[in-house]
Amino acid sequence: MTADDAFRRALDAVLRDLRAQCSVQPDVREPEDDYPGLILYAPDGSGQGVYGVGLAEVADGVQDWAVEALWAEGESAVWPPCPAHPDSHPLSATVVEGVAVWVCPKEGEVPVCPIGELPPRDANG
Ligand SMILES: [Zn+2]
Repeated sequence: MTADDAFRRALDAVLRDLRAQCSVQPDVREPEDDYPGLILYAPDGSGQGVYGVGLAEVADGVQDWAVEALWAEGESAVWPPCPAHPDSHPLSATVVEGVAVWVCPKEGEVPVCPIGELPPRDANG
């Protein structure tokens, strides 16, 4: 059994955000059982299944993976970092007016950017 196309497209979008702003990258593999999603492996060899219906739910799962993977590498376990409050808290994945977005949870869920469109962290450096 393989993951469905909608899930794969959602995961691709979130992995793009991960490439833009995360120092730890997953090794994405097919599950060995009939798990509906895909397995993200961290550099330390631990795997975590990610599956969700809709972009925000998939982003939530990838965020769980990223936080654990960053922590395991001794990095700041915050992904994606909130641009308004650096080193403070991560953005939350949610749906606002039908669009899956990253929001700052501290300010009434202010949308920061659509999921899949995080700017590269070093774009201006
Ligand atoms: Zn914030």
